[in-house]
Amino acid sequence: MEPVRVTREQIDYYNRPGPRYTSYPTVPVWSTSFDERAYREALAAVAARPADPLSVYVHLPFCAERCAYCGCNATATKHDHVVDTYLDRVERELSIVAPLLGERRRVVQLHWGGGTPNFLNEAQARRLMGLLDAAFAIDREGEIALEMDPRIGSAEQAAFYRTLGFNRVSLGVQDINPQVQAAIGRIQPFEQTAALFAACRAEGFSSVNLDLVYGLPYQTEERFGHTLDAAIALRPDRLACFSYAHLPQARPNQKRVDASGLPTPYTKFALFQQAVQRFTAAGYDWIGMDHFALADDELSVAAREKRLHRNFMGYTTRPAPQLLGLGMSAIGDLGGCFVQTEAHLGRYEQALAAGQLPIVRGHRLSEDDRRRRAAITHLMCNLELPLSTALDAGDEAMVESIERVIAHADEGLVEVAGERIVVTDLGRYFLRNLCMELDAYLKHTADRPLFSKTI
Ligand code: SF4
Repeated sequence: MEPVRVTREQIDYYNRPGPRYTSYPTVPVWSTSFDERAYREALAAVAARPADPLSVYVHLPFCAERCAYCGCNATATKHDHVVDTYLDRVERELSIVAPLLGERRRVVQLHWGGGTPNFLNEAQARRLMGLLDAAFAIDREGEIALEMDPRIGSAEQAAFYRTLGFNRVSLGVQDINPQVQAAIGRIQPFEQTAALFAACRAEGFSSVNLDLVYGLPYQTEERFGHTLDAAIALRPDRLACFSYAHLPQARPNQKRVDASGLPTPYTKFALFQQAVQRFTAAGYDWIGMDHFALADDELSVAAREKRLHRNFMGYTTRPAPQLLGLGMSAIGDLGGCFVQTEAHLGRYEQALAAGQLPIVRGHRLSEDDRRRRAAITHLMCNLELPLSTALDAGDEAMVESIERVIAHADEGLVEVAGERIVVTDLGRYFLRNLCMELDAYLKHTADRPLFSKTI
């Protein structure tokens, strides 16, 4: 892909807080008055549609130690019994939720995220999968995925997770440079990553993927270039290249990050542009905002055919209409509502010990939310927006939003082609900014420190 020409003024202008739009409306908009009763109603709405397949996300928050840069809901522990107690609570949550959904619903997408899912020992992982198998009919031909930390991974683990039915795995890498790793509190020799990657390949995972992060301290184009080349050399099926958001006020662990080495916004832009160029030159398609997939990967095929979808677990070709979240801080998207469980481990466990579902916030989507959500998803996934999305609705506010997107044609971010707004190569770097024009809530929430930086 040819490099785009971008000015410092453009970078300055677009470098403002913005959501990643894994949901619309975004989490800060959701209300704490959405309670257990509202959640039970949403689950009942799912039960009334027994043919809908489910996606299930399980949040496993434990890690051997907390990385300084981490933006996840994670907690460090050295004790197996802490994990056992947590699994007791997840079992309790499942025992309440699963019957409300109906008899052993079919699951076509299962994702264990964290935290570090492979922090669980074999007995714990077997127990959790057993609980899920008892509650649901999990389609082993579906996407059964987990995230693994190579620092604690092994060939034995890779083999074990295959026996549980996992067929997809993402390995956290971030950056291979020792100085960068020291600055973010995550020492991970590349040999560890390469060894686990090879083991996962040997075990026959159908998709072995790597996660990188740009915008970390001491990353330069030259150093990050080595990380990109090392990642490409392993030939993962997919790569994610996430933007680091340094928000130490909202994430106190990030106070340990050596912020003096953070790249400027201009360098950060160059780092990502370099990733785009190297990955596309190596045979990967750029997917949506920050993902890359081999040209024959089903994600790339779906992107070319404009049938890509996006949910809290990322880009997917197989959207299930109902996403159930289990575990602390997990997010559900079901029955026309978004819902989030308690993100504090103690309160999550207390609520379940008392027989309550630990819901802290949620949102029932209005018609306007659905229309804007569809438009944002279309833009994020397919890099275009059919004008009919807005104009058929005859909704003045939506028409204004669309006009705001079209106004970016002057800067070369979009083009209007017939009945569609099409995102240009330059516009892809500012996709969030384009989506923000469609966000009816943003002006009310823009000052909240929950968003990560655009670049
Ligand atoms: S970055 Fe990953 S391994 Fe590190 S603390 Fe966060 S969740 Fe755990």
